[in-house]
Amino acid sequence: MPVAILPDISEQHCIGCALCVEICTALGPDVLRVKPVEGWKRGKAFVFYPERCISDGACIGVCPTKAIFWMRPMDYTPGQPIPLKKHGLFVKGWEEG
Ligand code: SF4
Repeated sequence: MPVAILPDISEQHCIGCALCVEICTALGPDVLRVKPVEGWKRGKAFVFYPERCISDGACIGVCPTKAIFWMRPMDYTPGQPIPLKKHGLFVKGWEEG
């Protein structure tokens, strides 16, 4: 399984504002998506395309709640989003949308 330096997103702190998605898309890598998570009113940010991440940390700089506080080495499967660590139920097979 490949390893990359990826944003570590705190489910507890993310408010689903999508600022991280916007900056990452605008800069080119287009790694992040906000998706619904069971038990939360607002969506949560996910590392949706881990293989695209260039580990520049742009998402850290725009997050208003410090939900993305650091980046760390993580295992990933190309083409599969990184699940949230704690309570988020991860639904496989999300389509782009
Ligand atoms: S910028 Fe922060 S709070 Fe907003 S969606 Fe991204 S991780 Fe969540």
